[in-house]
Amino acid sequence: MLPVVALVGRPNVGKSTLFNRLTRTRDALVADFPGLTRDRKYGQANYDGFQFIVIDTAGVHGEEVGIDAEMAAQSMRAIDEADVVLFMVDAREGVTAADQNIADHLRRINKTAFVVANKIDGIDADAARADFYELGLGEVHGIAAAHGRGVEQLLKTCFTPL
Ligand code: GDP
Ligand code: MG
Repeated sequence: MLPVVALVGRPNVGKSTLFNRLTRTRDALVADFPGLTRDRKYGQANYDGFQFIVIDTAGVHGEEVGIDAEMAAQSMRAIDEADVVLFMVDAREGVTAADQNIADHLRRINKTAFVVANKIDGIDADAARADFYELGLGEVHGIAAAHGRGVEQLLKTCFTPL
């Protein structure tokens, strides 16, 4: 059985971009319109020798109603299915209330989760990452999903203890 990695986080942080990079497809919908990917999406990743199943999700705020509630439920099911959660945040925007809600949920459940600060290209990565330690989930891993920076190091960290 391959390990299962779920990509969770609020809309527009770059989950589908990372999914596409890990699976080397353009199947996941990547757009500037938050919430476009309505459902979970599974792919097989073979990246720098790491093999795993990756789940893309529509994104979650933690306080949703209506269609957003369905998206949130999908994210929760993806978290349930996963061995490892990559909790993605936007390095350019800092911690939002939605990020805090997701972090609260992840801290309550007993699941291996890594905070991934995406979009560190063209900014001071260390300064941007520093913000996210307040989420209380430990180390903050900086990546640029669009360019691949930091992704191999992230996977090394994720899979070393497994
Ligand atoms: P999702 O809603 O979390 O799936 O986010 P998407 O993958 O659809 O990406 C949202 C937006 O962020 C798109 O415009 C992407 O091109 C952009 N984006 C994703 N990754 C990066 C990155 O590493 N750097 C920058 N600058 N933009 C990114
Ligand atoms: Mg998406």
